[in-house]
Parts: sequence; structure tokens; C-alpha cells
Amino acid sequence: MRIRIENARIVDGTGAPAYDGAVTIEDEHLAEVGEASAPPDEVLDARGRIVAPGFIDVHSHSGFTLPGQPEAEAKIAQGVTTEVVCNCGLGLLPSNERVERFYSLIQPIVFGEPGGRCYATLDAYRAALEGRGVSVNVACLVPHGNVRAAVMGLEERAATATEIGHMQALVTEGMEHGAFGLSTGLVYPPGAFAQRDEITEIVRPIRPFGGFYATHMRDEGTRVVESVEEALAIGRAAGVGVQISHHKAAGRLNWGKTKKTLALLDAARAEGLDVHSDVYPYTAGSTVLSAMVVPLWAFQGSQAQLLERLKDPPTRARIIRESKERLVRLAPLPTVVERLVPKPLLVRALLRAMSKLVVISSTKRQHHYEGKTLDEMARMRGQDLFEAILDLLVEEETAVAAIAHVMGERDVQRVMAHPQTMIGTDGFPQREGKPHPRTYGTYPRVLERYVRELGVLTLEQAVHKSTGMVAAKLGLTDRGVLRPGARADVVVFDFAGLRDRATYEDPRHGPEGLDHVFVNGAWTWRDGAHTGARAGRVLAKRAAA
Ligand SMILES: [Zn+2]
Repeated sequence: MRIRIENARIVDGTGAPAYDGAVTIEDEHLAEVGEASAPPDEVLDARGRIVAPGFIDVHSHSGFTLPGQPEAEAKIAQGVTTEVVCNCGLGLLPSNERVERFYSLIQPIVFGEPGGRCYATLDAYRAALEGRGVSVNVACLVPHGNVRAAVMGLEERAATATEIGHMQALVTEGMEHGAFGLSTGLVYPPGAFAQRDEITEIVRPIRPFGGFYATHMRDEGTRVVESVEEALAIGRAAGVGVQISHHKAAGRLNWGKTKKTLALLDAARAEGLDVHSDVYPYTAGSTVLSAMVVPLWAFQGSQAQLLERLKDPPTRARIIRESKERLVRLAPLPTVVERLVPKPLLVRALLRAMSKLVVISSTKRQHHYEGKTLDEMARMRGQDLFEAILDLLVEEETAVAAIAHVMGERDVQRVMAHPQTMIGTDGFPQREGKPHPRTYGTYPRVLERYVRELGVLTLEQAVHKSTGMVAAKLGLTDRGVLRPGARADVVVFDFAGLRDRATYEDPRHGPEGLDHVFVNGAWTWRDGAHTGARAGRVLAKRAAA
């Protein structure tokens, strides 16, 4: 089967200038790019349209939801053909009983479907996804949180030499099964319980496979500079490339720190470290509410113990005291006022401001809180703010996700414009609630707002940051660039008419103007609708090398 996309404006993913021509897909591969000689079976007229490689989402959390939502509509609709999953140290694999228990309590958030489960190994996950068919290609990282939970549970202490050996064996197994590297989430238990030297040891086994180290850093606010230094130190010591995940500076006090963090990346690159970062095009972040407010020590042991601590009066009082300190650090500081107003009054004002910047995006049961700020939620309950937050976490068994409007637009643009930054969604597709719009609108929003309207990037740069640059980091030589012989992952869109429709109020909408998507040559999105094709693969690093 030969499909020719004619009259196209080709943006090939390398960053080279766009040019006019045709692209011919033959079965799973690209037969011709630019030229058109052999007669096609079917012609797609792409007059006025851009033809580009399918986007490779370098930072996705769809790994949790793909078993239950294999058509990946949220991603296909915005032109994504490959997702890098198991980011932030979290994922459905590898697993054992301890890992299964860790995730089961916060479902349905993590599984995205009732009855979801974990997988013992990457090979088992691949067999499950490919067995039922999946519409996108999937590249897995080895999530450090799973590895630590599998060996040590939720213990807040350093690993012993024996435990490090067990964890290294799990990492090696994941790499043998085709993982592309290792991810950490150093704000989430149990990954956050590991310190720098221990992490370095766990990262070492990815080196012989050419894997890279992706990290949701320990602190993206007050200590973001030190956190970047930690990530770079681990990369240097383990001898592997580094990916700073969702690079940002959270909290008004920290806005502008991306100048320093990007300079650190440049310096590390100059000395030979293969370091990149990724960004999503929004000034709000999103994660589970517990990670925003509950101090790490409270997660020790098990989820059941966490719930006990949230209820036990003296422990609860300590958690509230420390939560206030955490939230204040993220709050916008009225600088002049700071010197004039007494500390307790100031803290109260900051917490009030902060409680209006954090919006509940999804809950397990009490869906009427979705879309409400923490301030509104507490008022609805007639409770003090922190009593309300902790009660809600207990009632929902901690399965509460939230969106925090804590980043500055200039930092977003500065990170995005940096030559070593890729685009990633950090998306977590959910059937219910009001998840962060990044899951549905990242790529159209980059093209519409940051290329077409603001000119932060050229079209060619934006496409390169979404395709060829990511493929190079992954070591994928047959995707991310339109050239004869490459896999036929292709997107066709109307650059002038592209319109992102995912908003915070109503996020679950794909864009207008994204017409066609091919995955491994299969026509998966056609005239703005999913065809049901499930031609994706779970990719393997070893095969790409
Ligand atoms: Zn993260």
C-alpha cells in the first residue's frame, strides 16, 4: 500500500527550513520524501498543510492509562505518535506485591480505569499492550520509585549494599527488556527517600545500554539551582546523559532562576555532558495534592500508615505546621509588604493567596470539588484550610490531583527557547475531572501561541524540539525525521488554522486543524477523527542501537 501526501509543505524534523514537496508512505516506512516517482495507490492532497514527523512526547505519564485507553486519543489528536512513559520515577512496571500495594490505593487516578494493574516486567507490559493493540508507539524508562518500592517498600533511609545490588539488578533487567533509561521523581515517595550517592549507583547500570537519566528534581522552587546541580552530578558520576524533566522555576520568589539553571546546563554541555530539558507550554503545574502539601516523612511505611498519621491529632498538627511552611515557600511574596507586616499575618496572607492558586483537578469520589480552588473547597466544607485539605486527603485515600498556578511566563519562554529544550506534555489522560490541559493541548498550543502568535520559536524549531531532537536523545535512528527508509510516523496539520481548545475549565478537547496522523504507516487520525488503528509498538532501545 502506497499513500502519497501531495502538495505538502514539509518540515522534516531536523530543524532545516521547510520546503514544498510530496511524502510517500509505503506500508510501514517512508518511501520518498520531497520527490515523487512511483505511482501511489492513494493520494492525500495536503495543499496548504504542513507535513511533519509525528511528535515524540518525551515526558508522558500515559504509561498508566494506555492499557485501559489503548487508542490514546488525547495524544493522537494532537499529533503524538510516540510517548516516553514511566517518567518521574513512576509507572506500572517493574512491579511486585509491594509496588502493586503502593499504587492500588491511589487508583483510579493512576490506572485511569477500574481494575487496572501493574506488570512484573517491561516484557510483560509490552506483551499486554501489543496483545490488545495500542495506537501510539511507547518508549519506557525504568522508574526509580518502582525499583525502590519493590526492594525497600516505603522506607525512609539509605539503602544497604545488598539492597543497592537488588535494585541494580531490576534496572539491568529493565534495560535488557528495552528501556531507554531511568527516571526519578525526587519529590515523590519512595524515590525521594534516596540521596545522591544511592541514586548514582542505581543509575550506573543504564550506561552500557546507552540509556539516559531523566529526573523530576528534588526541588523546583527555592532550591531549583541546587537540584539541577544534583542531577548533573549524578549524570557525570554515572557517565550518562541527563534530561531535566518539565524544567521550571516554581513560586514567584524563584521566577528568573531559569537563567541560572540554563547556564548550568550550558556549562555542563560545554564540558561534554549530554544534557537536555523539556517543557510544557503553561504557567501551571500539576501533581497529586499530597505531594504538594504533605511532608515526606509522613509517607514512610505504607499508605495505610500515611492515612493514620493524617488522622492522629498530634501527628496531624505537625503535618499542618510543616505543610504551611511548604506552601508558603511556593506563594507569591508581596515583597514590600514583607518588611512592614508581622510574620504571622504575612504567613496567613500568603497561605490565602496560595490557596487560590491551587485548583483541585480530580478526586476519587467527591467530584464536586473538581475545578475548585483549595480556598473554595475549604469554604464549601466550612472548615479551616488545612483541616479541610487533610480531611479531604483522608476521605479520598490521597487520590486527589491538583493544578498549581505558580510559574512565570518569562521562565516558560526562556526554557522553551533554549536550544537544548524539547517539548513534552507531562500529560496524564483521565476520563474524569478537570486534568491539566497540557494532556490535550501541548503541541497545538506551542504551535499556535509560541510559534504563530509570539514568535518564541520558528515552526522548524518547534517541530525539531518535538521530533528529531527527542529521537536523537532516545537513540531512535528510524523516527523523528522525515527521510526515505524511516518509520512512517507522520502528522499533517493546518498551521494557519491550528487552534488549541483545551482550557483549564474544560480541558478534554483536542485541537482544530490537526487533520491526519500516521503511526507506522497506519492511518490513525483521518480528517480529524480516530480510525481505530492500533499500529503502535512498544519500542526497544536495544533494537534501535
Ligand atoms: Zn514530574
